[in-house]
Amino acid sequence: MNNKTPEQEIECLKNSKELELLLLNNSDEALYFYSMDGKLIFINAAFEKITGYTTKELYESNFIPFVHPDDQEWTMRLWEGLYKGKIFEDVEYRIIKKNGEIRWSLSTWKIVSNYDGVQIGIQGKQQDITSRKQNEKEKDKRADELILANEEKERLLQKLKRAASVLSSAQESIMITDSTATITEVNDAFSYITGYSPDDVLGKNPRILQSGRQSPEFYVEMWDAILTKGHWHGEIWNRRKNGDIYPERMTISAVKSDAGLVQQYISVSTDITDIKTYQGQLEHIAHFDSLTNLPNRVLLADRLRQAMMQCQRRNLSLSVAFLDLDGFKQVNDLHGHNVGDELLVAVSQRMKDALREGDTLARIGGDEFIAVMIDLEKPEDSEPVLERLLKSAAYPITVNDIEMQVSASIGVAFYPQDGVTSDQLMRRADQAMYGAKQAGKNRYHHFDIAQDNAVKIQLENIDNIRSALDRSEFVMHFQPKVNMRTSEVIGVEALIRWQHPVRGLIASLEFLSTIEGHAISLEMGEWVIGAALRQISQWQNIGVNLPISVNISAYQLQQKNFATRLAALLSAHPDVNPHCLELEILETSVLSDISQASATMKTCHELGVRFALDDFGTGYSSLTHIKRLPAYLIKIDQSFVHDMLEDVDDLAIVESVIGLAKTFKREVIAEGVETIEHGAALLQLGCELAQGYGIARPMPAADIPEWLDTWKPHDPWQAFKG
Ligand code: C2E
Ligand code: MG
Ligand code: MG
Repeated sequence: MNNKTPEQEIECLKNSKELELLLLNNSDEALYFYSMDGKLIFINAAFEKITGYTTKELYESNFIPFVHPDDQEWTMRLWEGLYKGKIFEDVEYRIIKKNGEIRWSLSTWKIVSNYDGVQIGIQGKQQDITSRKQNEKEKDKRADELILANEEKERLLQKLKRAASVLSSAQESIMITDSTATITEVNDAFSYITGYSPDDVLGKNPRILQSGRQSPEFYVEMWDAILTKGHWHGEIWNRRKNGDIYPERMTISAVKSDAGLVQQYISVSTDITDIKTYQGQLEHIAHFDSLTNLPNRVLLADRLRQAMMQCQRRNLSLSVAFLDLDGFKQVNDLHGHNVGDELLVAVSQRMKDALREGDTLARIGGDEFIAVMIDLEKPEDSEPVLERLLKSAAYPITVNDIEMQVSASIGVAFYPQDGVTSDQLMRRADQAMYGAKQAGKNRYHHFDIAQDNAVKIQLENIDNIRSALDRSEFVMHFQPKVNMRTSEVIGVEALIRWQHPVRGLIASLEFLSTIEGHAISLEMGEWVIGAALRQISQWQNIGVNLPISVNISAYQLQQKNFATRLAALLSAHPDVNPHCLELEILETSVLSDISQASATMKTCHELGVRFALDDFGTGYSSLTHIKRLPAYLIKIDQSFVHDMLEDVDDLAIVESVIGLAKTFKREVIAEGVETIEHGAALLQLGCELAQGYGIARPMPAADIPEWLDTWKPHDPWQAFKG
């Protein structure tokens, strides 16, 4: 038993080696000692702990086995340096513990000499710094990650900046939402179109744009398309901030992650208010007479066809009454057009009131109207209505304190008795109307056998035309088409004339209507194309290079072999570039099969021939035609151009046709430009191409070269140059 006091104990230790050993083994620092030849001869307890080996196991072992293979080479070199007197402090390297674990250690090595200066060994101390190293590594990793993240951020930022500039300069309104349909981004165009600033909408649901015009099913279908196909495209009515409802053409796409999860929805849309407005205007123009607001010929034809089908189904009759006012020309001549117009408005309103519900009154020309009376048990049933019509037309009317009176001559045809097609019915009623005029006016006349004679006369006319064609009595006149701004002559239109041996030069409309829809019109149509090609070739020979446009009836275009015939005509003139031939399609409204017409036009286009739509704006569904028929040029009908300087309606129509042409990227030409003012007004509206008496009247081919030499545009048009 130990009975020493602590003081005595210390005194004892002071003089023994034990104290040193005690200190060494209680040190947290691992300590060791190698002999000069590199054999381990001492380690303390801390070192045992760090390496996992016992003193016994390590005794006389070499330094190397503890060191991690990757660090052996360079630590050995340091070790050699020790013999040259160097001291190495804080050397960091990896060791491998007995259990295989890799640890980081921090060591200091130096050679130890005895009092006599003789080197006796190498003293080392070592610390485990694994956890510090791990922290450092962690920090480095984090730093690296931070750098990478910053670079990525920068790249993204650049990308975003680029995207933002695309976004803000885009014409289309762009809206981006996150996957929960919360708006995260909108561009300038969006704000411009909707009136909402980004602050108004960010964080909200696009629902705030809803107009309420679409049914819930509409949105169901929309979302179905987005979720199944990834996108939706269509037209939609939305509401602006100010409450206005407007139409948009919109594409919504879902942006998905690599894993297929929706991250964003992007909608890109264009405001199509203008297109819809033109469409509306044109639909109205196409169906209604702008003075009286009565249905026009086009809508009438449609209603008549419907009514005829109804009659057949119900086994009833209908009557078509063709009305022409008596004495209207005198009113116009005496009191002027304005008074004449007011009279027309008043009379048409009264006549309309004279009809029964379901009947139609249409204005089909200056003072010509057609009434369709439906659901008649027998023809006589229309008589009371006809009497009322006569009475209402003949009722005195006061305009500007002037009392006037006209009357109506009415021709009546019945369906099914008098005709099989709607055209025939109207023609027969028209013929009957002449009977009413001849019989003394202010009365009605039924179509009767006398009209058959008229048909015979018409057939005689066809015979006349047939022989005129054989005798080469038809000639072409040419009317120049120019660019008013640049003064360039862009071509000429070929217009047919009949050089009659007795009656002289006959205008085209006088004989073309006779052969309308008849086989001979096809023959004549081909003759015209041939004549135009010959003319191009002749002019080419004297150095005049002018494209010629030729009028083609819808009836001709609809012939199955049209493209083949055209190809044959072109191949007969190999010296003519087909691009010099242009075809103006007349009466597009009667095209029964738009797809077929469009296909024929495409085939002809492949031959090099170009197309124009003539008399644009007068027909039915102009919008459909401009959209679906591959014509490069739109000709604004001269009836609109004629009155555009006085009549705001006509001006609006001209403007909307120009706008429509622009929207559909077609060129546009105005026909019937009679004065300098017409030209200037058109230039102002952005229509540069023109044709009309104000530039040149149609003339024989021989006069064209001289006209080309002398023509110069009018001074006021020059202002638009440049
Ligand atoms: P369109 O194709 O619209 O031709 C324009 C008509 O307007 C021509 O009448 C022309 O002389 C006339 N015109 C030109 N500038 C003015 C102007 O400033 N003021 C006025 N008031 N009229 C002007 P045209 O030659 O009597 O022909 C009438 C229509 O007959 C043509 O209308 C076209 O539909 C048809 N047509 C003429 N030649 C042919 C042809 O060779 N084949 C076919 N299928 N139809 C033709
Ligand atoms: Mg024409
Ligand atoms: Mg025309």
